[in-house]
Amino acid sequence: MLWLRSIIYYLIVTLVALMISAVHGTVWGLTFALVVVGASLVFHLYNLGSLYKWAQKPRVETVPRSFLLWQDVFDKFYDQVRLQKKQQDRLANTLERFTSAGEALPDGVIILDEHDRIEWCNQAASTHLGIDRIADIWQVVTNILRQPSLREYLRTQDFSHPLLLRTTRPAEQVLSVQLVPFDSTRKLLLSRDITQLDRVQTVHRDFIANVSHELRTPLTVVGGFIETMIDIPDLDPTTRQQQLQLMYDQTQRMQRLVEDLLTLSKLENGQQLREEEVDVPQLMRLLKSEADGLSQGRHTIRIGAIASVRLIGNHDELHSALSNLVSNAIRYTPPGGTITLSWRAEGEVPLFSVQDTGIGISPEHIPRLTERFYRVDRGRSRATGGTGLGLAIVKHILQRHQAQMVIRSRLGEGSEFAVKFPAQRLLVE
Ligand code: ADP
Repeated sequence: MLWLRSIIYYLIVTLVALMISAVHGTVWGLTFALVVVGASLVFHLYNLGSLYKWAQKPRVETVPRSFLLWQDVFDKFYDQVRLQKKQQDRLANTLERFTSAGEALPDGVIILDEHDRIEWCNQAASTHLGIDRIADIWQVVTNILRQPSLREYLRTQDFSHPLLLRTTRPAEQVLSVQLVPFDSTRKLLLSRDITQLDRVQTVHRDFIANVSHELRTPLTVVGGFIETMIDIPDLDPTTRQQQLQLMYDQTQRMQRLVEDLLTLSKLENGQQLREEEVDVPQLMRLLKSEADGLSQGRHTIRIGAIASVRLIGNHDELHSALSNLVSNAIRYTPPGGTITLSWRAEGEVPLFSVQDTGIGISPEHIPRLTERFYRVDRGRSRATGGTGLGLAIVKHILQRHQAQMVIRSRLGEGSEFAVKFPAQRLLVE
C-alpha cells in the first residue's frame, strides 16, 4: 500500500533524525531532516510535473518513468491507459467491421436522425438514390430525394409497407423503399433494387394475359357452336358437319397451345440436359421426310449439305427445335418456294441452317421473334396453325445447348435461320 510505505519512509527519516540529534546534537538532526524532506519535495514536484505534462496527451508509449512510489503510480497509469487503448481498439475494430458489413450489403441503408437528416449511407443507397456521400451528409433526406411519393411516405409516418419507387435518375430502376424506426428517434431507410423482379412479374402478367387471350377465341367459337346445336337440334347435316369440323379445328388449336406451354414449362424447370451422341445427318433425313409430309408437295425441299459430323446434345430436344424451324419455313413460304436444310461445319463451328424463299421478315421484327406470342402477322400465324411459342421454345433449347441462333431475312425474298453450336459439342468421325 502506497500510503503505508510513505508513512514507514517518513518514520525512518524521523528516527534517523532523532538518532543524529542524540549523537551529534539537535542542529545536525534538524539539518538532516530538512535535507531529506527538501529532497523528497523536489522529487515529488518533479514527478508531479511529469505527470501533468503527460496528462495533456496521455499515450501508452509516453507514460513517464521514475522510481520508488512514483514508479508504482506511473505503473498504475500505464495499466489503465493500456486497458483503455485495448478497449478503444476493440471498439474501433467492431465499428469498422459493422461499417464494412453495411458497405457490403446489396441493399441500400441510410441512417436518418430525428430531423430526417442523413447521418450515414452505404454505397448501395448512394447508387440507388443518387446520394453524394460527402456533400449530402447532414442534409434533410427529402431535400435530396425529390420524389413526391417518398415525401408523402415520410410524412404519413406509416411504415408498415414498403414504398415502390420508379426512378429515372441516376438510373432507370424500380426500388422498394422501407423505413424502419429504431432507438426512439432515428430511422433506417432501406432501399432494394427490384428492377429484375418487376420485369419478371411484368413478363409473367403479360404471359398469363396472352395465354388467356389465345384460349378465349377458340373457346368462344366452340362455345358458340355448341349453343347453336342446343338451340337448333335439327340443324341440317351439312351445316352441322361444317360446325363440327370448325370445332375440331379449334380444339386442335387449343391442344397445340397447351402442348407448347407444357414444353416451355418443362424447359423452364431447368432439368439438367441429358446429353447423348446425336446423329445429325440421320436427324436431317428425318426432318426432310417430316417437311415433305407437312408441305404435301407444295414446296421443293432440299438437303444442301450434310457434314458427317455428330453432336453432343439431347436428340429429342434438338429434334423439337430444328423441326420448329423447318415447319416455320414451310408455313411462311408460299407454294412453289424452296426450302433448303443444311448441316455444315464452318471452320470449327458446327452450323445447322434452314433457308427458305418465303415471305421474309422486315428487320425491326427480327430481334423480337423469340419472345413468347410475338408474331409478325397474327392472322397468317393462326391460319397456319401457329401458337406464337415455337421460336421461344427453340431459343430455350438452344440456350440449353449453348447454341446461338442467327436470323437473316429480307422482306419478300426469304429467310435463313442458322444455329451455331459451340465447337466443344462437335464429334468429328
Ligand atoms: P408462330 O407459331 O406464330 O409461327 P414462332 O414463334 O414459331 O410462332 O414464330 C414467331 C413469328 O416469327 C411468326 O409468327 C412469324 O411471323 C415469324 N417467322 C418465323 N419463322 C419465319 C420464316 N421462316 N419466315 C417468315 N417469318 C417467320
